Amino acid sequence: MTKCSNENSDRQDLCRDNYFARQARIIPAIKRKEAKKQATVAARSVLKLAAATAGEDLPLAKRQAALARRLMLKYNVRFGWELKRFYCHGCKQLIVPGVNARVRVSAGKVLTTCANCGRVNRKSLPQA
Ligand SMILES: [Zn+2]
Repeated sequence: MTKCSNENSDRQDLCRDNYFARQARIIPAIKRKEAKKQATVAARSVLKLAAATAGEDLPLAKRQAALARRLMLKYNVRFGWELKRFYCHGCKQLIVPGVNARVRVSAGKVLTTCANCGRVNRKSLPQA
C-alpha cells in the first residue's frame, strides 16, 4: 500500500495513480532485496554528504543525517564504524568532530563527546 500525504493534492493524485498502475502491473513493485540495495547506497551517500555539509550548514546536515537514519531503520541497513560514529548514541543526532563534537583518546578508548546532549560515546581501540 502506498503512503500518501494529505497536504499536497497533486502529489496525492500522482501517488494514487502509481498505486493503481502497480495494481494493474503497469509499474512493477520493487522487490524488497532490490529496495534494500538502493536504500543502502542512498543512506551511505546521504550520510557522507551530511558529514561534508556540517561545517557550513549544520541544521541542513542534521536533516540529511536524520533522513539517512530513517532509511537505515526502515530497510535494516547496517553502517560500519566509519559511518556509525557520526551519530550520537544518546540523542541519535549527527555529530561531526570539530563542529559539534569533541574527540579525545584516553586509556585505549576514543571518547567522542556530543555537544547537543553531552553524552560521551566510547569506542575501544584494538590492543596492540
Ligand atoms: Zn547527543
